[in-house]
Amino acid sequence: MIKEINILNGSKNEVTDAESLKQLEFINKAKEYVSELEKNLGRKPTACVVTFGCQMNARDSEKLVAILKLVGYEESESENSDFVIYNTCTVRDNADQRVLGRLGACSNHKKKNPHMKIAICGCMMQEQSAVEKIQKSYRFVDLIFGTHNIYKFAELLCTCFESDRMIIDIWKETDKIVEDLPVLRKYPFKSGVNIMYGCNNFCTYCIVPYVRGRERSRSPKDIIRECEKLAADGVKEVMLLGQNVNSYGLDFKDDNPDKISFPELIEEVCKVEGLERVRFMTPHPKDFSDELLDVIERNPKIARHIHLPLQSGSTEILRRMNRKYTKDAYLELVNKIRTKLPEVAITTDIIVGFPGESREDVDETIDVVKKAEFDNAFTFIYSKRTGTPAASFEDQVPEDVVKENFDRLLKVVQETARKQSEKYTGSVAKVLVEEVNDHDSSLLTGRMSNNSLVHFPGNEELIGEIVEVSLDECHGFYFTGHKC
Ligand code: SF4
Repeated sequence: MIKEINILNGSKNEVTDAESLKQLEFINKAKEYVSELEKNLGRKPTACVVTFGCQMNARDSEKLVAILKLVGYEESESENSDFVIYNTCTVRDNADQRVLGRLGACSNHKKKNPHMKIAICGCMMQEQSAVEKIQKSYRFVDLIFGTHNIYKFAELLCTCFESDRMIIDIWKETDKIVEDLPVLRKYPFKSGVNIMYGCNNFCTYCIVPYVRGRERSRSPKDIIRECEKLAADGVKEVMLLGQNVNSYGLDFKDDNPDKISFPELIEEVCKVEGLERVRFMTPHPKDFSDELLDVIERNPKIARHIHLPLQSGSTEILRRMNRKYTKDAYLELVNKIRTKLPEVAITTDIIVGFPGESREDVDETIDVVKKAEFDNAFTFIYSKRTGTPAASFEDQVPEDVVKENFDRLLKVVQETARKQSEKYTGSVAKVLVEEVNDHDSSLLTGRMSNNSLVHFPGNEELIGEIVEVSLDECHGFYFTGHKC
């Protein structure tokens, strides 16, 4: 017997306020189901959201947690909860394996608690093969949905309560952006703000354009309204999120009176009263404009940190990656940033082991690391993603060669980062205090405008405040210090 309900496939709709209202009605309906469950259990039901992957996923998970709490679940970190949802990532192959391993373990909990509901969503679910695998081998999963219809979570939750079948709701694409749904922030004083969804760039190693669809920018009015609400709610720092923030607004029609560029948008966000820091993630080097540098220069609220993914320092590998810039163009951009904004920290992402990468190509990357003097770099070993052009490139690099090149690169990255950090020793920095230190509860942990971590003695009442801290000692990627 077929036990799936396929709700919709490939829907394309306009943005509607009516949709937000409809979802709020489903929230009320789900509340009734959860209250019924609470009566049956004799306690408040618990829910756990497990997040894999990037900032965009973390933001989506905040939306899921908000709905679950609103409808009556108590948030829990245990995967032995009454409702467990895995928000997946598919950028790296081992992420898939990790999710499936966790899902397998979860089935044991469900055997003991048959009322338990298990859901899986996110980028991995946009891949047909992954959904088929779950349909076939993980029959205990109650709900599967993708990246485009996360705003429908309350509705899907209701359907889940109304049916004992596996619910599958994956949309291939959408141009729909639904605003005004509840979000529960992890930190009360800082928040991500999605400014756009999707990506048009098709880097040959990356699955994102296939699973997140084409670029769709939110209207500037909605973004500003969200930032104003956040500021009124005590948020001091926002991070504007998009796969390629520099293409913000390019999808608006020319006659759209709301059409603005990313530099114009960030400048408007800076005007929001109460916000003290504005970050953005991620700009693509090929689209980084002089206008954006001017805006950063004249707006002290914009964090002194630019994350500028390099991926490779070899022009030939960059061409095969479809990154649309050369080694020289990247270095020229870094030079321009360093000259105009000397106080800005530049961090990057680098992939080692892309198909066809030679030792000389890695030498080129190391050369860029030295010349750019990155403040930090996240280095990744290339992971073949089925469905991307690079997966079918023939000259995959042997594992031992990748490992050797990775180690060579990492050594230079660490030396450069340490040298860069040391420059700040002895200075005073404004630090947004984020939490009590994980290892030593007498210490607080916060972030400087340039994103460096600082640990210093202090009272937890300072959490959420921006304080001045003297940076006494540099430990490579973080500082210890004392409050001035
Ligand atoms: S810019 Fe390239 S790496 Fe980034 S999301 Fe788009 S395709 Fe992927």
